[in-house]
Amino acid sequence: MAEKKLPFSQAELEAMVEKYGTPFHVYDEQGIRENARKLVAAFAWAPEFKEYFAVKAAPNPYLLKILREEGFGADCSSIAELMLAEKVRILDENIMFTSNDTPASEYKKARELGAIINLDDISHIDFLENHAGLPDIISFRYNPGPLRSGGNSIIGNPEEAKYGLTRDQLFEAYQIVRSKGVERFGLHTMVISNELNPQYFIETANMMFDLAVDIYNTLGIRIEMINFGGGIGIPYRPEQQAVDLSVISEGVRAAYENKIMANGLHPMKLALECGRVITGPYGYLVARVLHKKEIYKNYVGLDACMANLMRPALYGSYHHITVLGKENLPLDHVYDVTGSLCENNDKFAIDRSLPKIDIGDIVVIHDAGAHGHAMGFNYNGKLRSAELLRKSDGSVDVIRRAETVEDYFSTLDFSKLEDF
Ligand SMILES: *Cc1c(COP(=O)(O)O)cnc(C)c1O
Repeated sequence: MAEKKLPFSQAELEAMVEKYGTPFHVYDEQGIRENARKLVAAFAWAPEFKEYFAVKAAPNPYLLKILREEGFGADCSSIAELMLAEKVRILDENIMFTSNDTPASEYKKARELGAIINLDDISHIDFLENHAGLPDIISFRYNPGPLRSGGNSIIGNPEEAKYGLTRDQLFEAYQIVRSKGVERFGLHTMVISNELNPQYFIETANMMFDLAVDIYNTLGIRIEMINFGGGIGIPYRPEQQAVDLSVISEGVRAAYENKIMANGLHPMKLALECGRVITGPYGYLVARVLHKKEIYKNYVGLDACMANLMRPALYGSYHHITVLGKENLPLDHVYDVTGSLCENNDKFAIDRSLPKIDIGDIVVIHDAGAHGHAMGFNYNGKLRSAELLRKSDGSVDVIRRAETVEDYFSTLDFSKLEDF
């Protein structure tokens, strides 16, 4: 089986373990930058292309700063994410605010920052107008429902999804905002998640270009920008292949020529809001083996748990595991690799073939750079680990310290217990 290689040497990782203690997440700056440049290069043909990084995937300002330097914007969906973008000076139309069930205060903040607001429902036009005023550019999120079959397992079928406007609502919504003085229009969708088949993205682009042409022909409204959403997958399993971005790009380009250019709608701005494919493969969860137990199955217990990486427990996802220094040993043992949460699904791997593991071994869990640390939670009194950045010059920075019990207790006021 193909092995997934680490970008760090054994000595480097051992030094990090020694200095910072386990568990921790570590990100590879060089890998993130090279990958970001590949995406930008793949879409260099487009009149204006922008990737709005989905902040929720890795909401760390030091990672956002790297991505801003590579020309990315930010896709935000909450006040905290807007504030993170602001902190790293991703501002104005470099922010796309794609939220749902949104409080007025968040629309106000998005307006204050000059973000492109992407409305999730036709009723949000009035809500936005009443609470924050209408900006001169508005985007709408399209939910194709039954018009687009075959969403995938994480996001589900579009007609079951809570997001976006129906096709009829979309046409009505553009007319409403135009009548209210809005002059610039965006169009957005997000119908797939963690998808490795480039054809899905090309189909989505075709669907969106057709829609933009229909909107133009029916309403005389020219869409300035189409955002195809995120959802490009990553090869979590060693035998999977990364998505060839040039295949997506060439397919989108052909559709652009056949539909947008052929109908006189060139130039049109194109955008993506990927998270996973941007940082996912460049982040690792590093943990130490605390215990082994042999009952009906053989278990290896780590000092990390699902508070640090929830995807295996939540979705049954595969995350590859490397046992440091044992990369070349035969995979002749079968283990469940577990965390310490009092939940039986707190397992990083089930029935995984691995080399013989000993207590004290360092285990590296791959592809934890997106929807990893970010999904962390404090259930069962578990604390989120630190995030480290291995910089392009080889040095290591702490970009988020580990939580402490003081953080965990910081919302409690114990002094009121004195009445007891
Ligand atoms: C989560 C999300 C994304 C990013 O998805 P990835 O799978 O990380 O690419 C983009 N847009 C919206 C609206 C999202 O909710």
